[in-house]
Amino acid sequence: MSLLFDTHVHLDCPPLATHLDTEVEAARAQGVGGFVVPGVSAAAWPQLLATVARIPEAWAAPGVHPQRAQEWTEERAAHLAALLDHPRVVAVGEIGLDGLLPAPGLAIQERVLRAQLRLARAAGLPVLIHCRKAVGRLLAILREEQAQAVGGILHAFSGSIESARQAVELGFAIGFGGPLTYANARRAPEVLSALPAEWIVLETDAPDLAPHPHRGRDNRPAWLPLIAAEVARIRNWTLEETARITTENAYRVLKLAGRRDMGHETNDK
Ligand SMILES: [Zn+2]
Repeated sequence: MSLLFDTHVHLDCPPLATHLDTEVEAARAQGVGGFVVPGVSAAAWPQLLATVARIPEAWAAPGVHPQRAQEWTEERAAHLAALLDHPRVVAVGEIGLDGLLPAPGLAIQERVLRAQLRLARAAGLPVLIHCRKAVGRLLAILREEQAQAVGGILHAFSGSIESARQAVELGFAIGFGGPLTYANARRAPEVLSALPAEWIVLETDAPDLAPHPHRGRDNRPAWLPLIAAEVARIRNWTLEETARITTENAYRVLKLAGRRDMGHETNDK
């Protein structure tokens, strides 16, 4: 059986960080074989790197979340640029635009997004994008900043089929998580059905967005198979096909294949 890959999981945040070994063991027991841990706040980058250092199959994606855009300074830009050389850093994230936040405003968010897209391009690393209620603006910025040079993942995507197609044209995979499993899910299943197979990846976004039947609780990476099962049902794939396709996609988009010799020999059987 192919292993599942969680492209977006906040293992460095409580409550997951508090029981890290237990949570990772539980996920492994459920067939999860890879994790990407996105950054949120610049102050937490050292903790993010320390977390992935403890887990051989975890990778880091440091960055500043749009909700923390006011934190962005020249000093932090230099710090992030230096971190992008770290062997366990595979992407810049999570970065983007959030039109539902009362603050900071979209103008500040946009400036910080563009700055981080430029750093990612300079380092040749993909980006993990968070976007709510601003997908048109986001796609325009990705084009203007030539983000197709690095690509990445649109995480917790909530846009239309048309905007998903435009993202795919720019080299972005779409991350499917807990909301796909909710009884009132409409758009996510439609987008999932419409996408080419090679642009579908899985994510928990734990501890947020727990899948059915755990909705409302703290999410766990061990629940990724519940999301995989829903992807399998909607796409009419077997569980094995779902795991193989989505994990291959994650490896390709995150350019992980060339990284496997950097302390990850235990994964090569
Ligand atoms: Zn997240």
